Amino acid sequence: MTAPAKKIRPLVVGNWKMNGMGAHLRELRRLNTGLSKHKFGCDVAVCVPATLVHRLSTMKFGAKIMTGGQDCHGAQKGAHTGDVSAQMLKDAGAKWVIVGHSERRTEVKRGGHGETSKLVREKVLAAQMAGLRSIVCVGEMLTERKSGDTLKVVGAQLRQSLPDTCNAPDIVIAYEPVWAIGSGLTPSVEQIGAVHAHIRKALTRRFGDAGAAFRVLYGGSVNPSNAAELMAIANVNGALVGGASLKAADFSRIIGAYRR
Ligand code: PEP
Repeated sequence: MTAPAKKIRPLVVGNWKMNGMGAHLRELRRLNTGLSKHKFGCDVAVCVPATLVHRLSTMKFGAKIMTGGQDCHGAQKGAHTGDVSAQMLKDAGAKWVIVGHSERRTEVKRGGHGETSKLVREKVLAAQMAGLRSIVCVGEMLTERKSGDTLKVVGAQLRQSLPDTCNAPDIVIAYEPVWAIGSGLTPSVEQIGAVHAHIRKALTRRFGDAGAAFRVLYGGSVNPSNAAELMAIANVNGALVGGASLKAADFSRIIGAYRR
């Protein structure tokens, strides 16, 4: 039986992907100014390219906008040209790191990095060791949705990507249907609700009562017009936002779903 839902503080995360030069950080200055005018019942983080992590972390935002990276290597250091370790992100000022994003899980021939859930698990462990919080992404492809395999696929990714040592403040799950990312398409409220309920059940089954405290974000074409409806779905504890996080005006309207 699923444990009773606890009061979970939502989290809204921006994912800039491979976008943004130093000058683009002024959008976050604008965002910060906008956020300062109201009270919000959520935490906010922005996962910028590794080149901007240090600069963002040293901007004077107080605790309002937390800094994140978008990926880390599973090893602490070594001969891995071009990679960044969790410790390095932490050292640069990051508090969060995204792991297992579908753009990294996708096969190499389709432009991804072919990352498996086993590798994602290693990255979560590396992040834990470095003292970084992880946002672990899971989600089905359109073919899997159409063949009725969504819950099976998401369940397996979750099981294999999370180490047994998970605890709620340090690990956040992001359900991101691959076909909804950057496409302008979103699943129905019922479809999202069904996957989030499945994830919650899997977390409580595996981690006991602690499983009821994990934040489970929804990601995939979240925008200012649909944010309030999506964030109101049961077991949706925030959002992972790609394209719409690049502009302060759009991102602040999404965060506005949690305005008090
Ligand atoms: C993402 O990059 O994780 C994402 C959800 O992108 P978008 O919001 O652009 O669909």
